[in-house]
Amino acid sequence: MIPEIEKASAAEIKAFQEEKLKETLQYLDENSPFYKRFFKENNIQISEIKTLEDIQRIPVTTKDHLQQFNNDFICVPKAEIIDYVTTSGTLGDPVTFALTDADLERLAYNEAISFACCGVGKEDTLQLMTTMDRRFMAGLAYFLGARKLGSGIIRVGSGIPELQWDSILKFKPTYLITVPSFLLKLIEYAQQHEIDLQNTGIKAAICIGEPIREQDFSLNILAKKIKKDWDIELFSTYASTEMSTAFNECEMHNGGHHHPELIIAEILDDNNLPVSEGEVGELTITTLGVQAMPLLRFKTGDMVQSYNEPCECGRKTMRLGPVVGRKKQMIKYKGTTLYPPAMYNILNDFSGIESYVIEIFHNELGTDEILIKIASENTSEELLLEIKDHFRAKLRVAPKVEFATSEEVEALRFPPLSRKPVDLIDRRL
Ligand SMILES: [Zn+2]
Repeated sequence: MIPEIEKASAAEIKAFQEEKLKETLQYLDENSPFYKRFFKENNIQISEIKTLEDIQRIPVTTKDHLQQFNNDFICVPKAEIIDYVTTSGTLGDPVTFALTDADLERLAYNEAISFACCGVGKEDTLQLMTTMDRRFMAGLAYFLGARKLGSGIIRVGSGIPELQWDSILKFKPTYLITVPSFLLKLIEYAQQHEIDLQNTGIKAAICIGEPIREQDFSLNILAKKIKKDWDIELFSTYASTEMSTAFNECEMHNGGHHHPELIIAEILDDNNLPVSEGEVGELTITTLGVQAMPLLRFKTGDMVQSYNEPCECGRKTMRLGPVVGRKKQMIKYKGTTLYPPAMYNILNDFSGIESYVIEIFHNELGTDEILIKIASENTSEELLLEIKDHFRAKLRVAPKVEFATSEEVEALRFPPLSRKPVDLIDRRL
């Protein structure tokens, strides 16, 4: 199930997107209080924006805009809104996203073709190991996508290894949708309860929220750890509420596929100009076909690299490599640019580390400092040295590392009201 446009040539995809772009601009100009004003203030004549290059004349939309003018982004009357979703905003208050019936249909289509990208078909059953409520979009998208594809779905929700295994053994799902680190918990439970990991019927896991690959697409430490005990195929998916679109890996595992009928993707430098091919930049998106809250040139904050050669799976669409990091979390440390995920990768390599938290702050000179607090039974100087050496080998620099009690680390990792554990505390703001 590959949409025709995804097999078309780059030129055909571009022409197709330019038609969609014109429709989107027209729609925003008629229905979006925010963009109507934005076009006027920035002297934008939408009739002059005809190509994907022309789009660069329109200033970017930021997370601050969304936070500050949240309601002005909504293009439909309240009676048309079916579902409300929130995401964390830049200033603390959550940002609201509204979806109409057509938006839910678009979301279902998006997830269906994304699942299909990972090889999911009608004969498959998915076990959903993430939250469907709590105003999240993702869980609902997975449910709608499975329904559209005709696949079965078991809505177990997050956590509770016992219930997960009960469902796996009872209903024989073939795919899991999960945060990959949770698979380690499932493995541990299986080993403690004599569940045979080699005969579960699970073919693959679709991994959300955490990276499973290095920048060269090889499996990262977390993924290797999973596959060592449980040899299932791991697919990465990258998505966000703002995009309402997913980039899933196909069976070639060389980046998440772009769906040109759903989103325009630009990768921009600090001056909001496109980076050259092969460079890392900030993913900036324009949603296509969204009714309630379309976004135009929205800066996602995610640093990514694109790959443009046709894929062996038959799709000719652009692919996104693993997210290098959040732009806001970029750390300039001793002349080297670092992103937290690379540090997580190194720390996850040490089985002796029970838990950790990374703190980033400015020193008296105003430059970035990194302090990693580690809880471990082994609090020897040798372990500290080994960790620092590993950092130097992989990232060329070694941050400050110190031991802390597991209570202290856990208290930092689980602040009140946080929906998920915190690996990074950025005190630079
Ligand atoms: Zn592919």
